[in-house]
Amino acid sequence: VNKSCDLHIRGGILMPMRQNDEWFRGDLLIRDGRIAEVVRGGGSELSANHSLDASGALVLPGFVQCHVHVVQSLLRHQAEGVALLEWLRDFTWPYEAALDGDGVEAAAELGIAELLCGGTTTAMDFGSCSHHDRVFEVAERLGIRLTSGKCHMDTGEGVPAGLIEESERSLAEAEALGTRWHGAANGRLRYAVAPRFALSCTRQLLEGCVRMARSNGWLLQTHANENRAEVEAVRRITGLSNIGFLHELGLTGDDVVLAHGVHLEAVELELLARTGTRICHCPGTNLKLGSGIADIPALQQAGVPVVLGADGAPCNNQLSVFHEMRLAATLHSLRHGPRCMEPASVLAMATREGARALHLDGEIGTLEDGKRADVVVIDLGGWSLLPDGEPANRIVYGANAQDVRHVLVDGKPLVVDGRLASGDERAIKKRVAAAWHDTRARMEESGWRTR
Ligand SMILES: [Zn+2]
Repeated sequence: VNKSCDLHIRGGILMPMRQNDEWFRGDLLIRDGRIAEVVRGGGSELSANHSLDASGALVLPGFVQCHVHVVQSLLRHQAEGVALLEWLRDFTWPYEAALDGDGVEAAAELGIAELLCGGTTTAMDFGSCSHHDRVFEVAERLGIRLTSGKCHMDTGEGVPAGLIEESERSLAEAEALGTRWHGAANGRLRYAVAPRFALSCTRQLLEGCVRMARSNGWLLQTHANENRAEVEAVRRITGLSNIGFLHELGLTGDDVVLAHGVHLEAVELELLARTGTRICHCPGTNLKLGSGIADIPALQQAGVPVVLGADGAPCNNQLSVFHEMRLAATLHSLRHGPRCMEPASVLAMATREGARALHLDGEIGTLEDGKRADVVVIDLGGWSLLPDGEPANRIVYGANAQDVRHVLVDGKPLVVDGRLASGDERAIKKRVAAAWHDTRARMEESGWRTR
């Protein structure tokens, strides 16, 4: 019997996040990238050469965010005070059109470093149209578990020429990306097909996306029912509700994650529930763009699986799972009263439910023997976490990204004592500043002006 392990996470309060929301003092032993043993109390037969200190800290499965755009990170703090369609046309599209390969890489480094240092170990990510290899290369290097895809768009009002794609070529690029990256890095990287939204894609392109995803076993992600003007435009163009239109094209099902779901008719809600389509709640973005408040208790009541995501840096402006959890746990009390979103269920949305939405629940999302060792250790010494309380309350209402002490993916420490261990923080910050400078210059050459 092999009694030795690679890593020992010592002396924390463990929250395994299985169905029951119990917690206990204990240790975590890790071998070959997986959890070898969840130890209650002290003492184990196993020993390890390396250890990480979890005293005065909570130990949880790494957080899962099901909708982010790491490629948008350079545009953070630049696109303020506008609603969705203007935000896209006047800021985000000109920015994405101006990104070169180095810009995509720097944006991905910024977004992924922020996610990891904030305890998010797994994300479903939405790319831009070009240079998407660079996002996967960064994810491979920095160690995050990423399900990602290049954006598809072949129509739409006010889209810069550089972003509009020829449909067949757009699909061929995605097919090549998926073939190269799905399953890479020991299964850590996966491909998900990503048409931007109904207004950016022709029917032919959407149908092609669905065909490609289903024939390869890749997930699908898009945006839906975020904003009233968007919902009205979809009805004007297609004669259908947004979800009705997506459903007609096959863009519903338990392999589909739809970001937002703010403005839904009863019949759409029923369609989502019946097909098992996932809604990714992005409350930070919805508030900032003034889109509205998704009625999450009603969605859950109807049986729609709901998960969480921070969306993009230019519309939030941070990729913190803690910010989204706190909003999800407090916002809905306006409509449904203060008991409607229990902290434990919000925590589940950001861990095991997120893993289930990404079809990764067999591997991650809980701390259990045999699962991949994707782990976050949260320091309980921060002012807003003191003096005491139920762990779920402390995390959901009181914790911030700065409270994250250690982060592991596949048993590998990527963040240690709050610092990125898988990359050089100073070098990344330098590349980010240079890439934003260059990208902004290209945007201005194309006529973009800040207000
Ligand atoms: Zn989005």
